[in-house]
Amino acid sequence: MRDCQSFFKPGGILSSILKNYEYRDAQLKMAEAVADALDRRKTLLVEAATGTGKTWAYLIPAILSGKKVIISTGTKTLQDQLYFNDLPFLSEFLPFRFKVGSGAIDYGAPFTFSMMKGKSNYLCLHRFEQSLQQPSFEGFEAESHFDIVQQWSTRTRTGDRAEISELPDNTPLWQEVSVKGEACLGAPCPSYDRCYITRMRQAAAASDIVIVNHHLFFADLALKEASYGEILPHYDAVVFDEAHLLEEVATQYFGISISSYRIDDFVYDAEREFRYIQTVEAGCFEQCKRILSASNRFFHSFRKGEERYRLKESDFSQDVLAAGSALSESLQRLKEKIGALRLKSESISHLCERIEGLTSDLQLFLTIDQEEQEYVYWTEKRKQAVFLYASPLDVSARLRERLFERKVPVILTSATLASQKGFDFVRRRLGIDAADSLGNGTATREMILSTPFDYEKQALLYLPTHLPTPSDRNFTSAISEEILRILEESKGRAFLLFTSWRNMEEVYRNLLGRLPYLLLKQGDQPKQALIEIFKRDVSSVLLGTTSFWQGVDVPGESLSCVIIDKLPFASPTDPLVAARVDSLTQKGEDPFLSFQVPSAVLALRQGIGRLIRTRDDRGLIAILDRRMTKKEYGKHFLSTLPPSRRTASFDEVRSFFSGLRLK
Ligand code: SF4
Repeated sequence: MRDCQSFFKPGGILSSILKNYEYRDAQLKMAEAVADALDRRKTLLVEAATGTGKTWAYLIPAILSGKKVIISTGTKTLQDQLYFNDLPFLSEFLPFRFKVGSGAIDYGAPFTFSMMKGKSNYLCLHRFEQSLQQPSFEGFEAESHFDIVQQWSTRTRTGDRAEISELPDNTPLWQEVSVKGEACLGAPCPSYDRCYITRMRQAAAASDIVIVNHHLFFADLALKEASYGEILPHYDAVVFDEAHLLEEVATQYFGISISSYRIDDFVYDAEREFRYIQTVEAGCFEQCKRILSASNRFFHSFRKGEERYRLKESDFSQDVLAAGSALSESLQRLKEKIGALRLKSESISHLCERIEGLTSDLQLFLTIDQEEQEYVYWTEKRKQAVFLYASPLDVSARLRERLFERKVPVILTSATLASQKGFDFVRRRLGIDAADSLGNGTATREMILSTPFDYEKQALLYLPTHLPTPSDRNFTSAISEEILRILEESKGRAFLLFTSWRNMEEVYRNLLGRLPYLLLKQGDQPKQALIEIFKRDVSSVLLGTTSFWQGVDVPGESLSCVIIDKLPFASPTDPLVAARVDSLTQKGEDPFLSFQVPSAVLALRQGIGRLIRTRDDRGLIAILDRRMTKKEYGKHFLSTLPPSRRTASFDEVRSFFSGLRLK
């Protein structure tokens, strides 16, 4: 505790090393709570509004604790920011022996830190060397990309593709030479000692602070659960930033899936391996073709009209089951053919292990059990591929057992963790025990740190009541006109958030050619490129859906207005949402109030959070969904919004913008 004081208090260590250091009471409170949780092995939930300075409020206590701490983020952007900005700065400037008053505090040796990303970010030396000997790509573009990778491979120390900015994001060449989870040979690999994954793991094992993302963290937890090994080194504590994303990622990793993409990928790797070995008989290649045609027949059965739908027993007719069994048999047949070759090759035996994994996951779907209460089975089409999923309805019991009951301190933080009943919702979904009133008796402690911004002065919340409800067929045309008149007052500079692609496209078409500002739309360019243009071109207007509701950080005039089309309820037809709603109903709960509203409250707060990023920001939040004020449940949303002025009057919007004196 005393350590945190000496760092954060006015006149403390941070103020001596940072010219513009600004003391924030909430930041010190959070740092002390994090230090306490690390020390007393507690679970801590902290909602820290934007501007609290939460990153350093967990990094500094984590460093001072002397424990090995995993910091897990929801996005790669934050992961990179911690690794390339915050930690190098702290490691360079933080003194490890600092004079306070008449005494001295000794913080021990400087700390070490490293970063772990998902395997596909790294160059696989084994596959790269195979490509050098026998290139399996063609064309001028692929060759020039290969040259870039080859030159970089002679100087990289990490093998992380983020180092080669000149390599396009979507180059197929990277698929050829990067690490593929299922295809990695592990310890028997001839390049194992030089392998970047091996080195990344060694660096992580030797570091005090290890930066990962939620995907990697849960991939590790799922592997450990299945006793298939581990990815992360042993750790003493874990901090989850952007913790509002945990349930979604955990659901993905505790589930099982099989897809036409996975089969194609396996066949691609098998053929590549056969070509490399050269002594393989033609029958193996023929068998690969049979696998592909069996896969086409099986997965074609799920190519119905809808993009995503819940699977029922009736979706597995006799014909579908026969196609699935044929696929399984064709895979086994290849395994027999490979076995008959009697080759002593690690790569070849690894292919056999992959066949076992594929057939056992496929089997799960061929014996689908509708009485199953724990999983929901569903399918999704993505581009040319069909995916079948078995997703857990509730991850709380597993997280409780695997994470929160392990007596390892776990800190969860985000700008949006609490819904209308505090942390009740997130605790139930994640399997965290309730805190007692003093925060001492149980292993859980909670805190909500309110915003340091003056929302009363900085923002106006516009809740028009004259628009039709979202179910009305004139809704999108009416909101398009409303958006148009708001943008005329704000002089563009707006971020438009939609709950569906359809609404976004329709509003975009309605606005096109009617505004003297650049209109940018999700999907026209990669997300980061769009955000860069939006920042540069101050009067531009950016339209986005789900992935734009969070993680967009644009301080300043470019983002002077956030307009939200409607309350972000998850689609009730989404298979996972529908199954969770059914399950709660069966348990006698009201799924709308206990699940759908709190989820939407968190999503709405994320969207609104894009507006005010600094003390100097000013702007308007417009929510064009009249249910906010007309429906009883609207009060749940209203009670969790920032304390800005609220209005239904457009005149007030006009005078608000004229008061901002936009250029
Ligand atoms: S151990 Fe795996 S990732 Fe590393 S070089 Fe070998 S195959 Fe590639």
